[in-house]
Amino acid sequence: MKKLVLASNNAKKMKELNALLAPLGFEVIPQGELGIPEAEEPHCTFVENALAKARHAAGHSGLPALADDSGLCVRALGGAPGVISARYAGEPKSDARNNEKLLAELAGQADRRAHFVSLLVLCRSADDPQPIIAEGEWHGEILPALQGEGGFGYDPLFFVPEFGRTAAELDAETKNRVSHRGQAMQKLIERLPEL
Ligand code: IMP
Repeated sequence: MKKLVLASNNAKKMKELNALLAPLGFEVIPQGELGIPEAEEPHCTFVENALAKARHAAGHSGLPALADDSGLCVRALGGAPGVISARYAGEPKSDARNNEKLLAELAGQADRRAHFVSLLVLCRSADDPQPIIAEGEWHGEILPALQGEGGFGYDPLFFVPEFGRTAAELDAETKNRVSHRGQAMQKLIERLPEL
């Protein structure tokens, strides 16, 4: 098995990645297991933050490292909440308050277009000159009120026209297949032979 450090300690992400990567001969190790501290995410773009995290984990571990960064971009808000999606309404982070703030910012706004972004970066080493970068986008519209109980984050406000329902109303299998994260993962997997 080839070892791959995950620059996150999120148990759900670990499980999802392991399920995808184990059959391809990769063992995913959370960075916390190696005593690697969380990296700073000071940048205003997803790709820079994901790169900073992957580089940090590769540097500390001496192993190839994978990081992700994701969020929601709303067209009428100039791409906000973007990289601060998790903490849009401030600390402590709260999905309920983030959704409330998003609805307030979009009050009276006719253009409701938005998309989720998932950015995956895989660094072979800290000084890898050409990290593997895979990006997924999932397009939809922000509803005027919450709809659906599943998912997390902005899912209850994110209406997906192709299914005629919100991300919170999709079953997990469907969401994982079509979402920004699912698309980015598929692109990454196609490029793993380059490793
Ligand atoms: P993370 O960086 O992957 O932890 O995600 C950043 C934030 O973006 C999350 O806390 C959510 O607010 C939002 N987000 C990312 N992906 C999704 C999704 O699939 N559904 C709903 N919200 C999401």
